[in-house]
Amino acid sequence: MNNKLFIYNTLSRKKEEFTPIIPKKVGLYVCGPTVYGDPHLGHARAAITFDLLFRYLTFLDYKVRYVRNITDVGHLENDADEGDDKIAKKAKLDDLEPMEVAQYYTNRYHLYMDQLNVLNPSIEPRASGHIIEQLELVDTILDKGFAYESKGSVYFDVEKYHQQHHYGKLSGRIIEDLLSTTRALDGQSEKRSNLDFALWKKASPEHIMRWPSKYSTGFPGWHLECSAMSAKYLGDQFDIHGGGMDLLFPHHECEIAQSTIAKGKTPARYWMHNNMITINGQKMGKSLGNFITLEEFTTGDHAMLQKSYSPMTIRFFILQAHYRSTLDFSNEALMAAEKGMQRLLESLKTVEKIAPSKSSDFNVAEFENNCYSAMNDDLNSPILIAHLFDATRAINNMAAGQLSITANDLKQLKDLLNAFILEVLGLTPEMESFKEADTQLATAMDLVLQWRAQVKANKDYATADKIRDELAKAGITVKDGKDGAAWEVK
Ligand code: ZN
Repeated sequence: MNNKLFIYNTLSRKKEEFTPIIPKKVGLYVCGPTVYGDPHLGHARAAITFDLLFRYLTFLDYKVRYVRNITDVGHLENDADEGDDKIAKKAKLDDLEPMEVAQYYTNRYHLYMDQLNVLNPSIEPRASGHIIEQLELVDTILDKGFAYESKGSVYFDVEKYHQQHHYGKLSGRIIEDLLSTTRALDGQSEKRSNLDFALWKKASPEHIMRWPSKYSTGFPGWHLECSAMSAKYLGDQFDIHGGGMDLLFPHHECEIAQSTIAKGKTPARYWMHNNMITINGQKMGKSLGNFITLEEFTTGDHAMLQKSYSPMTIRFFILQAHYRSTLDFSNEALMAAEKGMQRLLESLKTVEKIAPSKSSDFNVAEFENNCYSAMNDDLNSPILIAHLFDATRAINNMAAGQLSITANDLKQLKDLLNAFILEVLGLTPEMESFKEADTQLATAMDLVLQWRAQVKANKDYATADKIRDELAKAGITVKDGKDGAAWEVK
């Protein structure tokens, strides 16, 4: 059986056989969210892409140390070196401490990742918890002569780096083009060149997230946290670095430059990037008004949504596309995903009802080979799902007595379905049935409250109160408001 895993390495621009630095062990670093807003479909895609990788590597018996960070400081607006910190800006708007904002959206991120059945990483470090490590990197890069101090800030000298190394080797950007397309410095700038990026920024008086350092009271540049935290937990060079394609430049290019100088190595050997989500063919963005959060998907409360969708439907919808292809959202595509996933999960029940025969019409070895081959070809989940659908059709025919399978083959088929549907793709039938129970309760409560409103309208307050009190005993609180009654489960 073909059991060599090939992954597309953005660095070499080709598919390469995956060979870890230490046999059977994998160091994986993925850029996590900047926690200043509610998680949306883009967050789900990045998390599910690398969850699929994490799950499959684990399934292949690799011991994976998976580090996914939380960016809670230093990510300025427009990914630039000037402007407000995204989290501090949100904190000012809502009159909160920046760490309250970061904690709130970290919790929201965790909530939705759990619902999407995204496994927790092994380590989830925060940028604000690694200021010392980041300052050590600033010192090293300065000592090596590839950074300079300017008015309390420290900048990385990109042109000097490019004379000895290759700035643009990951993104394919050409430094001469970048120089000619960026605007000229106005003489007021602290930077020698527009390409230079901040390692440390002196905090302006209104900037609230700040730490003392020998350079100034300030904060680290955004790219620095991933260099510092990946080296701390995975070593100076590790196996795989992942993230969304939007992080390729400048974020990952700058990470490579920093680590190449500080550690003498490209930090990761394989770089993997998931593609973006489009909505009806358009880029998703707050300013475009087509920005849909994961909460809105699960409530259906958004003008572009025809109904609500379960987190598992979203997961399946994302897995139906290869991670390097763009994925276009539409209600039709999501509804098709919902049906397809139910059909696939149903096959897990149907296969239990099959009675084995003396002979087999189903080639289970070929099915096994197909599943592995799809995943080994750069995590080709849509091809895997196509093979699982083929098996589902065969299972329905077996259950109808039109196809036969031996007891041994049947056992192997069940094991493969469980392995690839539940473990590798991470789909969970339980979460679907939870959702069903929720919907049933909501329907029942709507009926009860309508009835109670009727009773009240007839001035039968004793019965209305009795309904409220009996529900309270069952753990359901009813609150009367001017727009009618609301309920919640305590
Ligand atoms: Zn990063």
